[in-house]
Amino acid sequence: MASDLDMSFVNVSLPLRASGCLYEVGIAGGKWSYVRKQETPPAEGTVVSLEELTPEQAADGIAVDLEGRLLLPGLVDSHMHLDKAFTIQSVGNRSGTLREAIENYSAAAPGFTREQIKDRMREAIRQAAAYGTTSIRSHLDFNCRESTDVAMRTVYAALELKEEMQDVMELQFFPMCPYDPGARGVAEAYEEALKLGLDGVGGAPHLSTDPEGSIAYLFRLADKLGLPIDLHADENDDPAIRTVEFIAEQTLRYGFQGRVATGHLCSLSAMDHPTAERVMRKMADAGLRAITLPGANLYLQGRGDRGLVRRGVTRVKELVEAGVPVAVASDNIQDPFHPFGRGDLLQIGLLSAYASHLASEQELLLLLRMMTEVPAAILGLKDYGVQPGQAADFVIFDARTVHDLLSWLPAGRWVGRKGKWISISREHRWSRESRERIAK
Ligand SMILES: [Zn+2]
Repeated sequence: MASDLDMSFVNVSLPLRASGCLYEVGIAGGKWSYVRKQETPPAEGTVVSLEELTPEQAADGIAVDLEGRLLLPGLVDSHMHLDKAFTIQSVGNRSGTLREAIENYSAAAPGFTREQIKDRMREAIRQAAAYGTTSIRSHLDFNCRESTDVAMRTVYAALELKEEMQDVMELQFFPMCPYDPGARGVAEAYEEALKLGLDGVGGAPHLSTDPEGSIAYLFRLADKLGLPIDLHADENDDPAIRTVEFIAEQTLRYGFQGRVATGHLCSLSAMDHPTAERVMRKMADAGLRAITLPGANLYLQGRGDRGLVRRGVTRVKELVEAGVPVAVASDNIQDPFHPFGRGDLLQIGLLSAYASHLASEQELLLLLRMMTEVPAAILGLKDYGVQPGQAADFVIFDARTVHDLLSWLPAGRWVGRKGKWISISREHRWSRESRERIAK
Protein backbone atom coordinates (compact mmCIF):
# COMPACT_ATOMS: atom_id res chain seq x y z
CA MET A 1 0.00 0.00 0.00
CA ALA A 2 1.49 3.31 -1.05
CA SER A 3 1.89 5.72 1.80
CA ASP A 4 3.80 8.88 2.45
CA LEU A 5 4.53 7.63 5.94
CA ASP A 6 8.10 6.55 6.71
CA MET A 7 6.67 4.13 9.23
CA SER A 8 3.76 3.69 11.60
CA PHE A 9 3.11 1.75 14.78
CA VAL A 10 -0.05 0.47 16.43
CA ASN A 11 -0.69 -0.85 19.95
CA VAL A 12 2.02 1.37 21.41
CA SER A 13 2.52 2.07 25.11
CA LEU A 14 3.77 5.60 25.78
CA PRO A 15 4.58 5.61 29.50
CA LEU A 16 5.70 9.26 29.56
CA ARG A 17 2.28 10.28 28.24
CA ALA A 18 -0.22 8.02 30.00
CA SER A 19 -0.54 4.52 31.37
CA GLY A 20 -3.39 2.12 30.77
CA CYS A 21 -4.06 3.03 27.15
CA LEU A 22 -2.54 2.29 23.78
CA TYR A 23 -1.58 4.65 20.99
CA GLU A 24 -1.05 4.66 17.26
CA VAL A 25 1.74 6.81 15.90
CA GLY A 26 3.02 7.72 12.46
CA ILE A 27 6.26 9.14 11.13
CA ALA A 28 6.71 11.13 7.93
CA GLY A 29 9.73 13.05 6.71
CA GLY A 30 11.71 12.03 9.81
CA LYS A 31 9.17 13.57 12.22
CA TRP A 32 6.19 12.30 14.15
CA SER A 33 3.16 13.07 12.00
CA TYR A 34 0.45 11.84 14.38
CA VAL A 35 0.24 10.49 17.93
CA ARG A 36 -3.27 9.47 18.97
CA LYS A 37 -5.10 7.16 21.28
CA GLN A 38 -6.03 3.95 19.58
CA GLU A 39 -9.80 3.56 19.50
CA THR A 40 -10.09 0.36 17.44
CA PRO A 41 -7.75 -2.57 16.89
CA PRO A 42 -5.99 -2.62 13.49
CA ALA A 43 -7.65 -4.63 10.71
CA GLU A 44 -6.20 -8.08 10.18
CA GLY A 45 -3.50 -8.34 7.54
CA THR A 46 -2.61 -4.66 7.69
CA VAL A 47 0.21 -4.96 10.17
CA VAL A 48 3.35 -6.95 10.76
CA SER A 49 4.61 -7.95 14.20
CA LEU A 50 7.81 -6.39 15.43
CA GLU A 51 9.48 -9.78 15.77
CA GLU A 52 8.74 -10.65 12.15
CA LEU A 53 9.80 -7.28 10.79
CA THR A 54 12.37 -7.77 8.04
CA PRO A 55 14.76 -5.06 6.85
CA GLU A 56 12.80 -4.95 3.55
CA GLN A 57 9.48 -4.38 5.30
CA ALA A 58 11.11 -1.87 7.59
CA ALA A 59 12.22 0.07 4.52
CA ASP A 60 8.73 -0.25 3.07
CA GLY A 61 7.03 1.67 5.85
CA ILE A 62 4.53 -1.08 6.71
CA ALA A 63 2.52 -0.59 9.92
CA VAL A 64 4.14 -2.43 12.81
CA ASP A 65 2.17 -3.93 15.69
CA LEU A 66 4.05 -3.26 18.93
CA GLU A 67 1.59 -5.44 20.89
CA GLY A 68 1.69 -3.10 23.88
CA ARG A 69 5.46 -2.68 24.03
CA LEU A 70 6.92 0.50 25.50
CA LEU A 71 8.10 3.24 23.20
CA LEU A 72 10.21 6.10 24.54
CA PRO A 73 11.78 9.02 22.74
CA GLY A 74 15.43 8.11 22.05
CA LEU A 75 17.43 7.96 25.29
CA VAL A 76 19.68 10.93 25.97
CA ASP A 77 23.01 10.17 27.64
CA SER A 78 24.01 13.56 28.96
CA HIS A 79 27.46 12.71 30.33
CA MET A 80 29.83 10.27 28.66
CA HIS A 81 33.55 10.08 27.88
CA LEU A 82 33.53 8.48 24.45
CA ASP A 83 37.23 9.17 23.82
CA LYS A 84 38.29 7.14 26.87
CA ALA A 85 35.98 4.15 26.28
CA PHE A 86 37.45 0.64 26.36
CA THR A 87 40.88 1.67 27.66
CA ILE A 88 40.63 -0.34 30.88
CA GLN A 89 43.02 -3.01 29.51
CA SER A 90 45.63 -0.64 28.14
CA VAL A 91 45.53 1.97 30.93
CA GLY A 92 44.30 0.25 34.11
CA ASN A 93 43.66 1.49 37.64
CA ARG A 94 44.99 -0.72 40.45
CA SER A 95 43.78 1.34 43.38
CA GLY A 96 40.35 2.07 41.89
CA THR A 97 40.65 5.73 42.91
CA LEU A 98 39.85 8.81 40.88
CA ARG A 99 43.39 10.09 41.46
CA GLU A 100 45.03 7.01 39.91
CA ALA A 101 42.55 6.97 37.00
CA ILE A 102 43.45 10.58 36.17
CA GLU A 103 47.21 9.95 36.58
CA ASN A 104 47.26 6.80 34.45
CA TYR A 105 45.07 8.18 31.71
CA SER A 106 46.98 11.42 31.57
CA ALA A 107 50.28 9.51 31.23
CA ALA A 108 48.88 7.26 28.48
CA ALA A 109 47.11 9.97 26.45
CA PRO A 110 50.13 11.18 24.43
CA GLY A 111 50.51 7.63 23.03
CA PHE A 112 47.02 7.42 21.49
CA THR A 113 46.70 8.15 17.77
CA ARG A 114 43.77 10.05 16.31
CA GLU A 115 42.59 6.85 14.60
CA GLN A 116 42.66 4.90 17.87
CA ILE A 117 40.61 7.58 19.58
CA LYS A 118 38.11 7.60 16.70
CA ASP A 119 37.87 3.81 16.76
CA ARG A 120 36.95 3.85 20.45
CA MET A 121 34.44 6.65 20.06
CA ARG A 122 32.80 5.03 17.05
CA GLU A 123 32.38 1.71 18.82
CA ALA A 124 31.02 3.35 21.97
CA ILE A 125 28.51 5.30 19.85
CA ARG A 126 27.39 2.13 18.04
CA GLN A 127 26.96 0.32 21.34
CA ALA A 128 24.91 3.15 22.82
CA ALA A 129 22.79 3.43 19.66
CA ALA A 130 21.97 -0.28 19.71
CA TYR A 131 20.74 0.09 23.31
CA GLY A 132 18.42 2.96 22.44
CA THR A 133 20.42 6.16 22.89
CA THR A 134 20.01 8.70 20.10
CA SER A 135 21.72 11.74 21.68
CA ILE A 136 24.96 11.95 23.62
CA ARG A 137 26.87 14.73 25.30
CA SER A 138 30.46 13.59 25.72
CA HIS A 139 33.20 15.32 27.62
CA LEU A 140 36.62 15.24 25.98
CA ASP A 141 40.02 14.83 27.53
CA PHE A 142 42.06 17.96 26.85
CA ASN A 143 45.54 16.88 27.84
CA CYS A 144 48.17 19.62 27.60
CA ARG A 145 50.73 18.02 29.90
CA GLU A 146 53.15 17.14 27.07
CA SER A 147 51.91 19.50 24.39
CA THR A 148 48.68 21.05 23.20
CA ASP A 149 48.95 18.82 20.09
CA VAL A 150 47.89 15.87 22.27
CA ALA A 151 44.77 17.75 23.32
CA MET A 152 43.95 18.82 19.77
CA ARG A 153 44.26 15.23 18.51
CA THR A 154 41.18 14.29 20.57
CA VAL A 155 39.34 17.41 19.44
CA TYR A 156 39.89 16.62 15.74
CA ALA A 157 38.89 12.98 16.29
CA ALA A 158 35.63 14.14 17.92
CA LEU A 159 34.80 16.64 15.19
CA GLU A 160 35.37 14.03 12.47
CA LEU A 161 33.20 11.51 14.31
CA LYS A 162 30.41 14.04 14.77
CA GLU A 163 30.22 14.42 11.01
CA GLU A 164 30.62 10.71 10.27
CA MET A 165 27.96 9.53 12.75
CA GLN A 166 25.35 12.27 12.36
CA ASP A 167 22.70 9.92 10.96
CA VAL A 168 23.13 7.58 13.92
CA MET A 169 23.64 9.90 16.87
CA GLU A 170 23.19 13.51 17.88
CA LEU A 171 26.56 14.37 19.41
CA GLN A 172 27.73 17.21 21.62
CA PHE A 173 31.33 17.59 22.78
CA PHE A 174 32.54 19.53 25.82
CA PRO A 175 36.35 19.63 26.19
CA MET A 176 37.52 19.44 29.80
CA CYS A 177 39.56 22.51 30.60
CA PRO A 178 42.90 21.55 32.22
CA TYR A 179 43.11 22.14 35.99
CA ASP A 180 45.55 24.97 35.46
CA PRO A 181 44.21 27.12 32.63
CA GLY A 182 46.93 29.65 33.52
CA ALA A 183 49.74 27.36 32.28
CA ARG A 184 51.53 28.53 29.15
CA GLY A 185 49.55 28.10 25.93
CA VAL A 186 46.65 26.26 27.60
CA ALA A 187 44.03 29.02 27.53
CA GLU A 188 44.84 29.82 23.89
CA ALA A 189 44.56 26.17 22.82
CA TYR A 190 41.36 25.67 24.81
CA GLU A 191 39.68 28.66 23.23
CA GLU A 192 40.86 27.61 19.79
CA ALA A 193 39.34 24.14 20.29
CA LEU A 194 35.98 25.62 21.28
CA LYS A 195 35.97 27.86 18.23
CA LEU A 196 36.49 24.84 15.94
CA GLY A 197 32.88 23.82 16.62
CA LEU A 198 32.77 22.12 20.00
CA ASP A 199 29.53 22.59 21.88
CA GLY A 200 30.34 23.97 25.30
CA VAL A 201 32.74 24.55 28.13
CA GLY A 202 33.68 21.66 30.45
CA GLY A 203 36.11 20.87 33.22
CA ALA A 204 36.55 19.62 36.77
CA PRO A 205 37.42 22.79 38.65
CA HIS A 206 37.25 21.18 42.11
CA LEU A 207 40.55 19.49 41.13
CA SER A 208 42.26 22.79 40.33
CA THR A 209 44.68 24.41 42.78
CA ASP A 210 42.45 27.50 42.43
CA PRO A 211 38.88 26.23 41.95
CA GLU A 212 37.21 29.63 42.13
CA GLY A 213 39.70 31.20 39.73
CA SER A 214 39.17 28.29 37.38
CA ILE A 215 35.37 28.54 37.55
CA ALA A 216 35.47 32.31 37.03
CA TYR A 217 37.69 31.81 33.96
CA LEU A 218 35.30 29.21 32.48
CA PHE A 219 32.28 31.49 32.94
CA ARG A 220 34.09 34.45 31.35
CA LEU A 221 35.01 32.25 28.40
CA ALA A 222 31.52 30.74 28.01
CA ASP A 223 30.01 34.21 28.17
CA LYS A 224 32.43 35.54 25.57
CA LEU A 225 31.81 32.63 23.16
CA GLY A 226 28.08 32.26 23.90
CA LEU A 227 28.41 28.59 24.92
CA PRO A 228 26.71 26.51 27.67
CA ILE A 229 28.68 25.05 30.60
CA ASP A 230 28.85 21.49 31.90
CA LEU A 231 31.20 20.85 34.81
CA HIS A 232 32.34 17.87 36.84
CA ALA A 233 31.51 19.24 40.28
CA ASP A 234 32.71 18.07 43.67
CA GLU A 235 33.50 14.49 42.70
CA ASN A 236 34.91 13.93 46.17
CA ASP A 237 33.91 12.38 49.50
CA ASP A 238 34.94 15.45 51.50
CA PRO A 239 31.83 17.41 52.57
CA ALA A 240 33.93 20.58 52.81
CA ILE A 241 34.38 20.61 49.02
CA ARG A 242 31.45 22.68 47.77
CA THR A 243 32.53 24.38 44.54
CA VAL A 244 28.95 24.02 43.30
CA GLU A 245 28.06 27.01 45.49
CA PHE A 246 30.46 29.24 43.60
CA ILE A 247 29.20 27.75 40.30
CA ALA A 248 25.66 28.77 41.36
CA GLU A 249 26.84 32.30 42.21
CA GLN A 250 28.61 32.70 38.87
CA THR A 251 25.55 31.34 37.05
CA LEU A 252 23.42 34.12 38.53
CA ARG A 253 26.11 36.73 37.95
CA TYR A 254 26.32 35.91 34.23
CA GLY A 255 22.60 35.26 33.77
CA PHE A 256 23.35 31.66 32.76
CA GLN A 257 20.28 30.11 34.47
CA GLY A 258 19.24 26.92 32.67
CA ARG A 259 22.53 26.73 30.75
CA VAL A 260 24.76 25.20 33.40
CA ALA A 261 24.88 21.49 34.23
CA THR A 262 26.82 20.01 37.14
CA GLY A 263 27.73 16.33 37.23
CA HIS A 264 28.65 14.00 40.14
CA LEU A 265 28.02 16.20 43.26
CA CYS A 266 29.37 13.38 45.43
CA SER A 267 30.32 15.56 48.38
CA LEU A 268 26.70 16.68 48.58
CA SER A 269 25.83 13.20 49.81
CA ALA A 270 28.52 13.42 52.53
CA MET A 271 27.38 16.78 53.94
CA ASP A 272 25.24 17.13 57.04
CA HIS A 273 21.63 17.60 56.09
CA PRO A 274 21.17 21.33 56.87
CA THR A 275 24.28 22.20 54.84
CA ALA A 276 23.15 20.01 51.94
CA GLU A 277 19.71 21.63 52.00
CA ARG A 278 21.25 25.08 51.82
CA VAL A 279 23.49 24.05 48.89
CA MET A 280 20.58 22.45 47.01
CA ARG A 281 18.43 25.56 47.51
CA LYS A 282 21.24 27.64 46.07
CA MET A 283 21.46 25.30 43.08
CA ALA A 284 17.71 25.52 42.49
CA ASP A 285 17.74 29.33 42.76
CA ALA A 286 20.49 29.50 40.13
CA GLY A 287 18.63 27.18 37.74
CA LEU A 288 21.43 24.60 37.78
CA ARG A 289 20.83 21.14 36.37
CA ALA A 290 22.31 18.04 38.01
CA ILE A 291 23.55 14.80 36.51
CA THR A 292 23.99 11.70 38.67
CA LEU A 293 26.61 9.19 37.51
CA PRO A 294 26.06 6.18 39.74
CA GLY A 295 28.27 3.68 37.87
CA ALA A 296 31.55 5.56 38.09
CA ASN A 297 30.85 6.99 41.54
CA LEU A 298 29.91 3.68 43.16
CA TYR A 299 33.22 2.41 41.77
CA LEU A 300 35.46 5.38 42.60
CA GLN A 301 34.17 6.96 45.80
CA GLY A 302 34.57 6.02 49.44
CA ARG A 303 37.76 4.06 48.82
CA GLY A 304 39.38 5.46 51.95
CA ASP A 305 36.47 4.69 54.26
CA ARG A 306 36.39 1.79 56.72
CA GLY A 307 33.18 0.54 58.26
CA LEU A 308 30.31 2.59 56.94
CA VAL A 309 31.57 3.36 53.42
CA ARG A 310 30.35 6.46 51.59
CA ARG A 311 29.08 5.45 48.17
CA GLY A 312 29.42 8.80 46.47
CA VAL A 313 26.06 8.94 44.71
CA THR A 314 24.50 12.38 44.99
CA ARG A 315 21.14 13.16 46.63
CA VAL A 316 18.86 12.40 43.70
CA LYS A 317 15.42 12.53 45.34
CA GLU A 318 16.30 15.53 47.48
CA LEU A 319 17.63 17.50 44.52
CA VAL A 320 14.41 16.80 42.65
CA GLU A 321 12.38 17.86 45.69
CA ALA A 322 14.44 21.07 45.94
CA GLY A 323 13.53 21.86 42.32
CA VAL A 324 16.79 20.89 40.60
CA PRO A 325 16.18 18.78 37.47
CA VAL A 326 18.31 15.60 37.66
CA ALA A 327 19.45 13.43 34.75
CA VAL A 328 21.12 10.04 35.02
CA ALA A 329 24.03 9.33 32.68
CA SER A 330 26.65 6.70 31.89
CA ASP A 331 29.91 8.57 32.48
CA ASN A 332 32.78 6.23 31.57
CA ILE A 333 32.63 2.86 29.84
CA GLN A 334 35.29 0.22 30.52
CA ASP A 335 38.10 2.61 31.28
CA PRO A 336 40.21 3.40 34.37
CA PHE A 337 37.43 5.63 35.75
CA HIS A 338 34.78 2.90 35.50
CA PRO A 339 35.71 -0.63 34.43
CA PHE A 340 32.18 -1.78 33.53
CA GLY A 341 29.28 -0.64 31.36
CA ARG A 342 28.23 -1.19 27.77
CA GLY A 343 26.71 2.12 26.74
CA ASP A 344 23.30 0.97 27.96
CA LEU A 345 21.60 3.86 29.75
CA LEU A 346 18.87 1.55 31.00
CA GLN A 347 21.46 -0.44 32.93
CA ILE A 348 22.75 2.77 34.53
CA GLY A 349 19.14 3.72 35.26
CA LEU A 350 18.75 0.48 37.21
CA LEU A 351 21.92 1.29 39.18
CA SER A 352 20.38 4.65 39.99
CA ALA A 353 17.16 2.97 41.10
CA TYR A 354 19.18 0.96 43.65
CA ALA A 355 21.53 3.73 44.70
CA SER A 356 18.84 6.40 45.02
CA HIS A 357 15.94 4.28 46.33
CA LEU A 358 13.69 4.73 43.29
CA ALA A 359 11.16 1.93 43.03
CA SER A 360 7.53 3.04 43.24
CA GLU A 361 5.62 3.49 40.00
CA GLN A 362 5.94 7.28 40.28
CA GLU A 363 9.66 7.01 41.00
CA LEU A 364 10.27 4.72 38.04
CA LEU A 365 8.50 7.23 35.81
CA LEU A 366 10.78 9.89 37.27
CA LEU A 367 13.72 7.63 36.39
CA LEU A 368 12.51 7.36 32.78
CA ARG A 369 12.33 11.15 32.61
CA MET A 370 15.88 11.29 34.00
CA MET A 371 17.00 9.36 30.88
CA THR A 372 14.85 11.23 28.37
CA GLU A 373 13.17 14.60 28.95
CA VAL A 374 15.51 16.01 31.60
CA PRO A 375 18.78 15.31 29.72
CA ALA A 376 17.12 16.45 26.47
CA ALA A 377 16.55 19.82 28.15
CA ILE A 378 20.15 19.84 29.42
CA LEU A 379 21.39 19.27 25.86
CA GLY A 380 18.99 21.94 24.64
CA LEU A 381 17.37 19.56 22.12
CA LYS A 382 14.65 21.62 20.46
CA ASP A 383 12.64 18.94 18.66
CA TYR A 384 12.59 16.19 21.28
CA GLY A 385 9.70 13.96 22.36
CA VAL A 386 6.93 11.84 20.90
CA GLN A 387 4.76 14.71 19.63
CA PRO A 388 3.64 15.64 16.14
CA GLY A 389 6.28 17.80 14.48
CA GLN A 390 9.14 16.60 16.70
CA ALA A 391 12.06 14.50 15.43
CA ALA A 392 11.16 10.81 15.30
CA ASP A 393 14.01 9.48 17.46
CA PHE A 394 12.76 6.52 19.47
CA VAL A 395 13.49 3.25 21.20
CA ILE A 396 11.04 0.38 21.54
CA PHE A 397 11.67 -2.06 24.37
CA ASP A 398 10.57 -5.66 24.64
CA ALA A 399 8.64 -4.80 27.83
CA ARG A 400 5.06 -3.76 28.49
CA THR A 401 5.35 -2.07 31.87
CA VAL A 402 7.94 0.23 33.39
CA HIS A 403 8.48 -2.26 36.19
CA ASP A 404 9.21 -5.02 33.65
CA LEU A 405 11.55 -2.68 31.80
CA LEU A 406 13.74 -2.13 34.88
CA SER A 407 13.45 -5.72 36.06
CA TRP A 408 14.26 -7.53 32.82
CA LEU A 409 16.47 -4.93 31.09
CA PRO A 410 15.17 -6.56 27.91
CA ALA A 411 17.74 -7.27 25.21
CA GLY A 412 15.12 -6.44 22.57
CA ARG A 413 15.64 -2.81 21.52
CA TRP A 414 14.37 -1.42 18.25
CA VAL A 415 15.83 1.98 17.63
CA GLY A 416 15.02 4.72 15.14
CA ARG A 417 16.54 8.10 14.45
CA LYS A 418 14.83 10.79 12.41
CA GLY A 419 12.35 8.23 11.16
CA LYS A 420 14.95 5.69 9.98
CA TRP A 421 15.79 2.41 11.65
CA ILE A 422 19.17 2.32 13.39
CA SER A 423 18.70 -1.10 14.89
CA ILE A 424 16.04 -3.74 14.43
CA SER A 425 18.17 -6.52 15.79
CA ARG A 426 17.93 -7.65 19.37
CA GLU A 427 21.40 -6.66 20.35
CA HIS A 428 24.47 -5.07 18.86
CA ARG A 429 26.98 -7.86 18.45
CA TRP A 430 30.52 -6.84 18.75
CA SER A 431 33.08 -8.97 16.94
CA ARG A 432 36.01 -10.36 18.89
CA GLU A 433 38.40 -8.83 16.36
CA SER A 434 37.15 -5.28 16.78
CA ARG A 435 36.97 -5.74 20.56
CA GLU A 436 40.63 -6.79 20.62
CA ARG A 437 41.68 -4.05 18.24
CA ILE A 438 40.06 -1.31 20.31
CA ALA A 439 41.31 -2.61 23.65
CA LYS A 440 44.95 -2.22 22.54
ZN1 LIG B 1 32.71 12.47 33.67
